[in-house]
Amino acid sequence: CGIVGYTGQKQAYPILIDGLKKLEYRGYDSAGVALHTGNQILVYKKQGKVSALEAFAAERSTTATTGIGHTRWATHGEPSDRNAHPHFSKSGTIAMIHNGIIENYAQLKNELLGKGYTFGSDTDSEVLLNFIEDIKLNNVCSLEEAVRIALKRVTGAYVILLIDKEYPDTIIAARKGSPLVIGVGKNEHFLGSDASPMLAYTKEVVYINDYELAIVRPDELILKNLGNERITPFVQQLDLELAAIE
Ligand code: GLU
Repeated sequence: CGIVGYTGQKQAYPILIDGLKKLEYRGYDSAGVALHTGNQILVYKKQGKVSALEAFAAERSTTATTGIGHTRWATHGEPSDRNAHPHFSKSGTIAMIHNGIIENYAQLKNELLGKGYTFGSDTDSEVLLNFIEDIKLNNVCSLEEAVRIALKRVTGAYVILLIDKEYPDTIIAARKGSPLVIGVGKNEHFLGSDASPMLAYTKEVVYINDYELAIVRPDELILKNLGNERITPFVQQLDLELAAIE
């Protein structure tokens, strides 16, 4: 299982696919991407290998310059196209990928079912996504704020990446217990479960800590804790020998 993300001036899709291939060693049963075109979000996902996803996407639009990609190791819900990530929120506005397990998803799901939510997959991940969207809509707050509020109620392990129709050129990322690295380029940022997807593009990386949230745009990387305090990103120079081991 792995996650990748890109926002910058290049086409995101080839970078995401290449990154997912570099993360294949982690094991997975399905793969998918979500691409932000500026006014809509396209989601392509397939059970099976990254090559199956590529075949599926071959005849489809892949010119977006912001996107997220996922390989799934199923924990909740069988391996299938519908359980593959990214998932769309109920309103269709937000797309999210998740590695890890949301331990209290059943409780959150019951709350959402009580509010009339329906689900398109059997995953714990889609529950968290709709929980986030519900907070965003009820509190009339930003996506970033909704993610922060939601994560305070979540138990389990996660790395999540989200894109939202309302926020072009923006990826929101957060982690607890699952790895997340952000690569800093010139007017572009890369996200990955490890540094391998970004090695070809940059040697400057920021390792994100538990309970940190990142707002990532081509020219901006904002780090916060769940208490909404800014954290100065610690940019490390990736050393080549280490990089070779990864
Ligand atoms: N728990 C999620 C699922 O089953 C994510 C699994 C993963 O880490 O890939 O869909």
